[in-house]
Amino acid sequence: MPITFLDLTDEIIQLVGHFVNPDNSLPIPSFTPHWENCATVINPHISKDLIAFRETCTGIRTICKLEGLHLETGYWTEVQAYLINDRWNNHLKAVSRARISISSLKDETDVVSCWMAFTSLLMKMPNLEELISDEVPFCVHSAAVWTTEELRLPPWPILNNLTSLSIHPICHKCASIIPLLIIPAALKLQHLRHGVVKPDKDNMIADSRDTSEDLFRHIKNAWCKRQSKSEMPLKTLHLGSPSRKVSFDILYIMRSETYVEPGHR
Ligand SMILES: [Zn+2]
Repeated sequence: MPITFLDLTDEIIQLVGHFVNPDNSLPIPSFTPHWENCATVINPHISKDLIAFRETCTGIRTICKLEGLHLETGYWTEVQAYLINDRWNNHLKAVSRARISISSLKDETDVVSCWMAFTSLLMKMPNLEELISDEVPFCVHSAAVWTTEELRLPPWPILNNLTSLSIHPICHKCASIIPLLIIPAALKLQHLRHGVVKPDKDNMIADSRDTSEDLFRHIKNAWCKRQSKSEMPLKTLHLGSPSRKVSFDILYIMRSETYVEPGHR
């Protein structure tokens, strides 16, 4: 009887599945500092060979897990489709890297429902390791009903396996608010790239270094409180700052200052 591909051991077939998915050869983080090339490697078609390999037969599909997929979206209509249609659930569970960059809200008065849709999509991706958000749409500071300042993290776990995060809010108010909304949820966060924390010209806060240091102190305290830990696991910080020393100082702050529960100081 001739020997077939399925006569190979499960371990060998899994190894073939590993090597046909180029995601496995990409580094974590895949992004580089601001002063280097900002091109992204996130490509929704990167795993087409793994998907084709799994569709060869039921035996291979059983042996090789669907994993290491990429997701890229810039439209609320796509986010809604992922949330509404259950057929995407297995695909979303297998996503390891996502680039979600949406430039505007569906409706400026509805920042809360857009934030809930965003966090719900993150919850559907429990194996997400890297998240890039070049554009963050939750920028409403003067609407009559809800504003960005009123958004809160959901109490259920999201981003539990995220190790790399790149966010770049353009608005200086959002640059102070959005990181505090997202980073405390990331239990295993090791690599962070963040846009410039610009001074608040309206309030004449002149020193961007102070602004950045204060922000990252708040981030560290919020992370430690949510995760009930005393140290963040952060290893690298790329801060969009004209001064490299600021990044170094802030990383030192995030590594070395001890978190104290409010009221215990
Ligand atoms: Zn804003």
